[in-house]
Amino acid sequence: MVITEVRIKLVEENNERLQAFCSITFDNAFVVRDLKIIEGPKGYFVAMPSRKLTDRCPQCGTKNHLRARNCNHCGTRLDENRALRGPDGRAKLHADIAHPINSACREIIQNAVIKAYHEEKERAKLPGYVCTYDDLDADYDDSYAQIVSELNTTRGNYRSHGSHAPRGTHAKSSSVATSEDDRSTGFGAGIL
Ligand SMILES: [Zn+2]
Repeated sequence: MVITEVRIKLVEENNERLQAFCSITFDNAFVVRDLKIIEGPKGYFVAMPSRKLTDRCPQCGTKNHLRARNCNHCGTRLDENRALRGPDGRAKLHADIAHPINSACREIIQNAVIKAYHEEKERAKLPGYVCTYDDLDADYDDSYAQIVSELNTTRGNYRSHGSHAPRGTHAKSSSVATSEDDRSTGFGAGIL
């Protein structure tokens, strides 16, 4: 398996550790999007695409993010420390959507992404710089939205995964967030 393309979207100067979004293509055939480049205490690392974990309100059954203090449907007070904690003691709020299963592969991805990130930062200094990440985005989102709408028309009870929020905002409306974690009726299951 070869990484044939890496696209980087630099994040404007901010006080957070997030430096860039990134997509990688394997064998000119398979794209994984929404990797993040984070600046950590020991240098840059690459975070795999992830989804927010949710659980259901004991009162009304609506899904809420694990950090939610109140149910976003009925307002019931929720325990904000209810998330499971990992061995490091940190609350587990996200789960990877795609990730390497061994450290050799992680290393290959990390190296390719960080190399591309440094090249992108150099390119960004040149006049007329255009980020190519959004080109990919437009194609992807259009075809994705079309597939989902076709599925919804042909199969009335199909619960789609919902279209992605616009690039860069990463804030999700509550309706998207509630359907996003339905793995059993998720996007892949519907297509295959
Ligand atoms: Zn509720």
